[in-house]
Amino acid sequence: MNYVSTRGGIAPVSLEVAMAAGLAPDGGLYVPQRVPVVELARPQATLAQTAQQVLAPYFAGSDLLGHLPQLCEAAFDFPAPLRALDGTDDYLLELFHGPTAAFKDYAARFLAGTLARLRRPADPTTTVLVATSGDTGAAVAAAFHRRPGFRVLVLYPDGRVSPRQAHVLGSFGDNVQAMRVDGSFDDCQRLVKQALVDASLRERLALTSANSISLGRLLPQIAYYAHAALDFHTRRGMPLDFIVPTGNLGNALACWLARRMGLPIGAIVLACNANDALPRYLDGGDYAPRATEATLANAMDVGAPSNFERLRWWHPDDAGLRAGLRAFRVDDAAIRDTIAGAPQRHGVVPCPHTAVGLRVLERLRAGGDAGNWAVVATAHPAKFEGVVEPLVGHAVEPPAALATALAQPAHAQALAADYAALREHLLRGVDA
Ligand SMILES: *Cc1c(COP(=O)(O)O)cnc(C)c1O
Repeated sequence: MNYVSTRGGIAPVSLEVAMAAGLAPDGGLYVPQRVPVVELARPQATLAQTAQQVLAPYFAGSDLLGHLPQLCEAAFDFPAPLRALDGTDDYLLELFHGPTAAFKDYAARFLAGTLARLRRPADPTTTVLVATSGDTGAAVAAAFHRRPGFRVLVLYPDGRVSPRQAHVLGSFGDNVQAMRVDGSFDDCQRLVKQALVDASLRERLALTSANSISLGRLLPQIAYYAHAALDFHTRRGMPLDFIVPTGNLGNALACWLARRMGLPIGAIVLACNANDALPRYLDGGDYAPRATEATLANAMDVGAPSNFERLRWWHPDDAGLRAGLRAFRVDDAAIRDTIAGAPQRHGVVPCPHTAVGLRVLERLRAGGDAGNWAVVATAHPAKFEGVVEPLVGHAVEPPAALATALAQPAHAQALAADYAALREHLLRGVDA
């Protein structure tokens, strides 16, 4: 399989090139030249084995294909259970059982494993630079922690991530350094982008970004949709419908790809917070990215979802694109109400992002919808204790992996939202 850019400005490249680069040189996003169809009647025994089956066609022709079993075993070594909600036929697809308690662990671990495999012994240390509003940075840091040949620099906006998120980011040590930036998430992103396009910096430093538009983060996410849908289909003989809490559209796009690969997935509904560029567009409006609005579901605070460019590439026509997806907007008041009511209504305590999905489920059911819905649970509620605990009225215990990180000392270095300061920091200790 070869990969092309959504901007059409490059000749097809191999999987290795697309995985290592992140962004295509013409500024576009890498997409597979065609979406492969897989013939799978049932899930494999483990998530890792299903992952191997659905990812194999994307690795066809690559030297990495032979390593795919080990890459999948290493990245998909914690479960993604489909858990029935109380008293209904609805499900949660729980994707938060990894080391940093959010779905991004799967893809970050797969990408880290792949980049480590692509490394040659003589290569210089690669600096992985990530801007984060909380979850991405932790997942990427955990995935690269103590991997020889890599160092990670995580930039987060000081005071604007939850206290537990900040603690986790600062808890790794070794080859991971957390930087608390005196600025917003947008400032952090701007600094990372500036570094990535700084040619004279890149001459002295091997730099990559592991950001959410990287192909190596998109593809592995197909696995859990495939595994859950095949499991449901085997038991019930029907496709499974998904409600996906959506920000940058990466997770939902993987679901869409899984359906296009022939897996038994029915409807896909995007659950968005007040950042509603996608609901507006899918309801017939123009596609108009906007300034980001801060909400309780902060990992979904995205005004201009990057992966929309990939969807567009597959569906240049509005009608075709709109036919396969729906989206709903959920505001902060509804998020609060859903979190407060969820223990009673559904028997679960959701994180604010999962609550956006649950709210959409409630709306669909109230309107008489008879789908077989699974709401994607994107993070563990204990990561967002400041929002969740007052609403449900009790403490939410962190899962074991998160508790371990929280028990470590944490350290973050202060950084001004100033590119010269970041550049100097990046070069400290390099060649001299
Ligand atoms: C990143 C994230 C999302 C949004 O996922 P996208 O792939 O950006 O759409 C939703 N929930 C949580 C908890 C996240 O960390």
